[in-house]
Amino acid sequence: MEKAVKRMMKFAGSNKYEIRFEWINKKTYGDIDFGKKIIRINLFLFVSETYIHEYLHYRGIGKEKATEIGTEYFLKRMRVSQIKKLAKKVLRRRKRKRFLS
Ligand SMILES: [Zn+2]
Repeated sequence: MEKAVKRMMKFAGSNKYEIRFEWINKKTYGDIDFGKKIIRINLFLFVSETYIHEYLHYRGIGKEKATEIGTEYFLKRMRVSQIKKLAKKVLRRRKRKRFLS
């Protein structure tokens, strides 16, 4: 296992594949293009989904299942531009800014 993790870490640090952080769609967290050697990560979706989930906890939606359903409800109804905007807003709160365009 340790060897496999080490190999993955090495690959992540190499330039064998380009890594792009960009919007894909509401259902896809990432994908890989073997021909073009590009790995895409839908950071907007990760960040917004996680943020909405925790926000709903903040709003007092206590139960995990209800929170998951609420998160899905929000994501389904939000426009792509709103999901991206929310993610950018959340990411702006970090100390170091990078990645999104
Ligand atoms: Zn939760």
